[in-house]
Amino acid sequence: QIGALPPADTPGGGQPNVVLFLRDLTSARRLEAMRVDFVANASHELRTPLASLSGFIETLQGPARDDPRAREQFLGIMRTQAQRMTRLIDDLLSLSRIELREHVPPTQIVCLKRIARQMVEEKAPLAAERGIALTLDAPEPPYSVLGDRDELLRVVENLVENALKYGGSGGLVAVSLGREEASGNRPPQLTLSVRDAGPGIAPEHIPRLTERFYRVDTASSRQQGGTGLGLAIVKHALNRHRGRFVIESEVGQGTTMRVILPEHRTGDQIEAPDMRPV
Ligand code: ADP
Repeated sequence: QIGALPPADTPGGGQPNVVLFLRDLTSARRLEAMRVDFVANASHELRTPLASLSGFIETLQGPARDDPRAREQFLGIMRTQAQRMTRLIDDLLSLSRIELREHVPPTQIVCLKRIARQMVEEKAPLAAERGIALTLDAPEPPYSVLGDRDELLRVVENLVENALKYGGSGGLVAVSLGREEASGNRPPQLTLSVRDAGPGIAPEHIPRLTERFYRVDTASSRQQGGTGLGLAIVKHALNRHRGRFVIESEVGQGTTMRVILPEHRTGDQIEAPDMRPV
């Protein structure tokens, strides 16, 4: 944008004072377009289950009023739709909370191994339901990072859940921790990888997976209870942690999603829950 202030009064007949101001609106416009897109997508995602709920309510008040079997079936579907809306609102709130804090560095000393173990234990029933062997490999403790425990739990939960949801049934999902020693200016880093042996992801989708509401296959994501926000949450949480997120996938072979975080080594103030033996 280019503009000019109105000429100032110039007593004495001198040159008028003209001030030019230059401002680049491209990034402001892009941000505004992203915001509008986001609101449109979120509204659409909420409207779909809401429309379905309204339809079933009408049917229950009308044609299905005296049909106990139809009532039972429709109430089950309505419950699923209501759960879907709840999940979506929870994810929208998580994402906005993480974004609000994105510029505030986290300060808890968190053990990544403990986070990984908690998630592997929590997701064991889902893995068993799908006939998937869910394993954890973390050779030597400790795996300390400066972080926010809840956000890191959420990151690992989203990756493990995705591997269980999209990694095909009957296979293996392996969570592993590793350490990369310092090199040059780079401090030592910890890695947490979640590998599945599922159908994999075609290369053209990979750069877009962390966009809000981007899915490779919308129907399959919805059927699995996905909101399309899981990897956007991962990306923003890792921005806050000064971490990196790497996706490697080969169609027909499987996918590895890797989180890389700076290791915390001073070990001066360890929070109580993480002092228990690993
Ligand atoms: P969703 O809620 O749909 O799971 P995510 O943001 O977590 O949303 O993931 C975005 C999309 O990335 C998913 O819809 C799915 O298509 C794809 N995806 C994520 N993880 C995997 C994986 N391990 N294997 C194959 N596809 C995956």
